[in-house]
Amino acid sequence: MPIVFPARESSRDPAYGGGTLDRLSERRGDPGFAEGLRGRDDARYLVFAADKPLLPEIGSDPRWPGAALARLGAATVEPVFLGVERRSGAPLFACQSVLGPDAAAGLGGVTTGDVRGLAAGGLLAPERLGEVAEAAAVLAWHRTHGFCPRCGQPSRVVQAGWQRNCPACGQQHFPRTDPVVIMLVVDGDNCLLGRAPRFAPGMFSALAGFVEPGETLEDAVRREVHEEAGIVVGRVGYFASQPWPFPMTLMVGMFGEATTRAIHMDDKELEACRWFSRAELRQMFAGTHPDGLQAPQPLAIAHHLLKTFAEG
Ligand SMILES: [Zn+2]
Repeated sequence: MPIVFPARESSRDPAYGGGTLDRLSERRGDPGFAEGLRGRDDARYLVFAADKPLLPEIGSDPRWPGAALARLGAATVEPVFLGVERRSGAPLFACQSVLGPDAAAGLGGVTTGDVRGLAAGGLLAPERLGEVAEAAAVLAWHRTHGFCPRCGQPSRVVQAGWQRNCPACGQQHFPRTDPVVIMLVVDGDNCLLGRAPRFAPGMFSALAGFVEPGETLEDAVRREVHEEAGIVVGRVGYFASQPWPFPMTLMVGMFGEATTRAIHMDDKELEACRWFSRAELRQMFAGTHPDGLQAPQPLAIAHHLLKTFAEG
């Protein structure tokens, strides 16, 4: 079978996938490596209060110098090493503030951001947004995995923030990434879209669901589509992936080929589900759909799945 490599990676288009740091994962365990980088004048820090990034009130760069950490309530915590800028070598770390979002918002010159809002508002450059997503996901893991799931004892941070070891039972724990398949099911010139009750008014999107243990991505696509819409899917192909730090998901965009057409919707998951033609999708993107129906925002991988199909 010939291997076909894409001319460009579609994973670069949705939000959060634009990070360009060299994570230097092979150096994380070197004694004194991360501490040494913290001593550099150009070391910078992304600081979070709970799940909210703290941003300077003026400007759009979320990276703080080390001198700001005490004021932000982040001087006493061990930072996670995110990586270095490839050109300058400047290191970037992520820190969890001991302050809550309200207390942090009360500090002069500081505003609390929102990881989704920063993307939706186009407030950060793609590489900054990628760094914020990396920080948000790994810090969320630390916030919720302080105790060993095997024996219940407090675990200890090692590998510059990319591993926790349990001193009681010796178990090693690694940051989680939970895969979700998001799939556009197609049948000739038509595709299958659904509406969950939580969606913005008028928005329809691709179906999605968590991959289960012991399941391939392709089988997860077939199972989820059958469960939510009663459609049988045959062939499945990969499109792109997107880090989705809410809190630590990897969205895997796929196309699937329907082999049946009659929809039997699961009304516990969806409030509407139907076939859309390419022409109708184009109206949704142009904002000219006669019923006011909308496609997902460009920050989401679903937007790019739908657009790729709409443009043929
Ligand atoms: Zn343990």
